[in-house]
Formats: sequence, structure tokens, C-alpha cells
Amino acid sequence: MEMKYRDSVEKSGEYLRLALPLMAKQLAAMHPVSYAVWYEYVAGGNPPLNTSIDEGLQAGERLDERATYDLYHKYVAEINEQLAQQISMGFQKVMADVASSAAQAGDKASQFGDALGKWCDDRAAASEGKAAYGIETILGLTREMQGSIVVLKNRLDDSRNEIEQLRQDVVKARVEAQTDALTGLLNRRGFDMAVAACIAGGAPGDSGPSLLIADIDHFKQVNDNYGHVFGDRVIQAVAQILKDNVKGKDTAARFGGEEFVILLPDTPVEGARQLAEKIRSIVERCRIKRTTDNGAVANIMISLGVASFAAGESADELVARADSALYQSKQEGRNRVTVARSKTAQGTQGR
Ligand code: GH3
Ligand code: MG
Ligand code: MG
Repeated sequence: MEMKYRDSVEKSGEYLRLALPLMAKQLAAMHPVSYAVWYEYVAGGNPPLNTSIDEGLQAGERLDERATYDLYHKYVAEINEQLAQQISMGFQKVMADVASSAAQAGDKASQFGDALGKWCDDRAAASEGKAAYGIETILGLTREMQGSIVVLKNRLDDSRNEIEQLRQDVVKARVEAQTDALTGLLNRRGFDMAVAACIAGGAPGDSGPSLLIADIDHFKQVNDNYGHVFGDRVIQAVAQILKDNVKGKDTAARFGGEEFVILLPDTPVEGARQLAEKIRSIVERCRIKRTTDNGAVANIMISLGVASFAAGESADELVARADSALYQSKQEGRNRVTVARSKTAQGTQGR
């Protein structure tokens, strides 16, 4: 199921070239859902979809919006981002090719029309004002053809703009889906994707990836003493400190309510510990004022856990070890950093 979405741009361009005329014969408009359905159809990796479409086509049916969406929900299901991207890239390419062919055809038709017109004039001059029968008709048709090629080209330009818009929408939707609204940090989903990408990037070495997990100490009391709105401001303030202290390839995310994570792809465990300690001390020293009551300031502290990725470990295991280290920080009195024992060293001496 997954493999066929890894088609190259050339391959998906080819599929779309095949899909385009099929799509154009249907009643449904050409939108991403119909692209997805017909792309799947010509790619041929989805036999139940093909059987269903073939039955309809044999019965002489043309797919309307409803039928297209039904097929989509039944056989294609959720549009995977990679597929959407693949399709819009391939479609762009096909559209560009078709538009340039149309432009060339337009030029040819125009040359042909001009030549025909000139020939017509010459003939008229030669036969004292009377053109040969039929030539005017042909000239008229040629002009019409030129006109429709111009229309086609304009419509293709419109479609390309629409597709570019769709592509931007997909990108924007993906960014939004990975962003936490309160803090602007990555959300849990964005973090999961960042970790997956980081781990897929190669075998872990002595220089990372490393992970920090931070949790605000006694945050329930902050809410209880100052209210939820102020609690949110505290979360935003801590998020800002993380942002200010994370750079390059490193990413900070809001992991849950008042928990944060920082992923450091190229940092060894000692560097991660130092960063954790730095952030802990900045948070401890910051004073967050209440807007409603100038006198009161909250003294916020965080506890942290640090772990470095071990060979053969899953992202979940890495997070779990960092989380255990965080738990230890809480147990030992909070406002501190604990480094998880490296996985390979467990049960043996030292690291
Ligand atoms: P600990 O030091 O052990 O971490 O104590 P804690 O009080 O922070 O413990 P716990 O994790 O159980 O409590 C977290 C609280 O954070 C509970 C929940 O009401 C609050 N919280 C979670 N998300 C939000 C949020 O978005 N805004 C606010 N204001 N509070 C939140
Ligand atoms: Mg918590
Ligand atoms: Mg807490």
C-alpha cells in the first residue's frame, strides 16, 4: 500500500498523463480527490478500485462528484500527504508540458492561418477578386482553431494556478497540523515526525540524537493560586525560553499540557545535559508578572530528564528513558536535571 506512493515525479507525471483523458471524460471536476482516484486507477495498485471503476465504465456511466467521492472514501481513503504532494508535483509537470504543447500548436496554427490567408489573397488577385471555392471556409476554420487553442491555453494557465494554490494549501495545512496554537512550538504530532525523521537519518553515534524532557514543577498550584489564564501565560513564557535556547537543527516541542521536549540531533549526552541545566537555571531566575496584580510574581521551576539515543532503540524507548530520568528529578526534589543511564550500559558497569 505504501510503496506505490514513492513513485518518482517522472512516474507520477506519466500516470497523470494517462489519468488526464480519463478524468476529463467524467462529470466530476478535476480536483485533488478525482486526481487521487484516477491516479490510483492508472497506477493499477488498487485492484478493487479498478474493478469498481471498470464496471461503471462498461455500463456507460460517467463519474459525477458523488460517485468520485464514494470511490475515494471506499478505496483510496485518507489522502496521505506524500500522495498529495506526489500528485500535485506530477500534475504541475503534466500541465506545464500540455500548456507548452498548446502554445506551440497555437503558433503553428497561426503560421498556417497566415500562410493560408496570404495564399488566398494571392489567388483572389490572380482570379480578379474571386477566391477558390472552399478556401474561405478553411480559413475560417483555421481562425476558429487558433481561437480555441488560445482558450485552452488560458484554461490550462488557470488550472496551473489552482494547483499551485492547492499545493500551498497542503503545505500550510501541514504546518498548522504540526504547530501548537498556544506556544507556536511544534505540537506532539510535529515532534513525532521530527523524531522519526531524525532516527531515519542514520545510525546513532556518540554525538546524538539526544532528547530533553521538561515538566513545570507544581504547575497545578500555579493554576490554583493564580488561575488558568495566568497558567497559560506561564506555559508561553517557558516555551519562549526554550525557543530562545534552541537553534540550528534542534527543535523544541510542547509535548503535552505543561511538558516540553527538545530534540538535539547532533548533540552528545553531555552537551544535552549542559543545555538542560542552562534552561533550568534561566527558568528558575525568570519572574513572570501578573497583569491584574502588579505585586504578584510566580516563581516557576522545571524538572528535566535527558537521554541519548542508543543503537537499535525506538523513538518511544528513547522518550521513555528521558521520561524516567525526569521522574527521578521529581522524586529527588524537583528543579533539577537527571541524565538517563545509557541503554547499552544498563546492567554493566559505567558507560
Ligand atoms: P509536578 O511537579 O509533579 O509536575 O506537579 P504538577 O502540579 O505540575 O503535576 P501534574 O503534571 O499532575 O499537573 C499538571 C497540571 O497542568 C494539570 C493541568 O490542570 C494543568 N494543565 C495542563 N495543560 C494546561 C494548559 O494548557 N493550561 C493550563 N493553564 N494548565 C494546564
Ligand atoms: Mg506534567
Ligand atoms: Mg508538572
